[in-house]
Amino acid sequence: MNLNKLIVIGSVNIDHILNVNEFPKPGETLKGSNYKISYGGKGANQAVAAGRLGANVQFIAAVGDDDLGKKFKQQLESDHIDTHTVAVVESKNTGVALILVNKQGENQIAIHEGANSAVTPEYVGQFEDDIIKANAVLMQLETPLQTIEHVAKLAKQNNTKVILNPAPAQSLSDDLLKHIDIITPNETEAEYLTGIKIVTEQDAQKASAFLHNKGINTVIITLGSKGAWVSYCGKGEIVSGFHVKAVDTIGAGDTFNGMLVTALLEGKVLNQAVRYAHAAAALSVTKAGAQTSVPTRNEVEDFIK
Ligand code: ATP
Repeated sequence: MNLNKLIVIGSVNIDHILNVNEFPKPGETLKGSNYKISYGGKGANQAVAAGRLGANVQFIAAVGDDDLGKKFKQQLESDHIDTHTVAVVESKNTGVALILVNKQGENQIAIHEGANSAVTPEYVGQFEDDIIKANAVLMQLETPLQTIEHVAKLAKQNNTKVILNPAPAQSLSDDLLKHIDIITPNETEAEYLTGIKIVTEQDAQKASAFLHNKGINTVIITLGSKGAWVSYCGKGEIVSGFHVKAVDTIGAGDTFNGMLVTALLEGKVLNQAVRYAHAAAALSVTKAGAQTSVPTRNEVEDFIK
């Protein structure tokens, strides 16, 4: 276990997944198949990935006062995550994602944030000491933006590294961006943040220059099976991923982020940490599900040899 402390702040969702031939039209009811309930939410997925891959993780989040939320919390503990800062919020449900997947593998998702809305600056403020003492904090955009802004500023002022996975895509203020050390958008999110559509390496270079100009030293644009564009202070290159037979890419980005931060906290240099992140994410796409597909650290070490 790496003694460096990582705090993950983010969402917890219960995913209800149903396969349908076609998406229902407004007013239509269709039969689905393969109904599954699984644990998700980008925050929880990334906490699980980091925990399973060897980081010393404390998770700041909230679940509802319902059975699924309480079970979810126990599940996180079995992945070696410190959950004493996961609140159980009375009179709120655990966050929910209702996911329909059609025959083409496309999805339609409706979410209810539920208890995730309780991850406010005031709530997180109770754990300021933990954030200040941690080595890094990893966040995404499924919890209130004011909280992310508050934590980023606090962490940066106290030399805790701030890693932001800006997903799902939304606009971010310059005041938030300047407090981030490492940002990890995918191509869509990078376009959303910079206005630059990522098709060529030059586009990735321009998009990363845009983000460097906002004060972010390290920009990693993930490119699916192609790997990632990795740029440190304006010097960038493609770091290729691994070829695998993809079964389901759900949660690939979350596994990538969990492994990336874990490897950096172990002292690996940036490109080596990205290679580890590619390996873990590639292994995750060979299996179905988000948290269920996160590999163990031994599997990653064997794969990367
Ligand atoms: P998702 O939303 O599916 O979780 P994402 O859109 O956030 O992912 P991607 O850029 O698609 O992020 O993928 C993140 C990383 O996962 C890639 O940089 C790569 O390491 C790995 N990856 C994704 N798809 C594949 C694939 N088909 N084969 C191998 N590795 C993959």
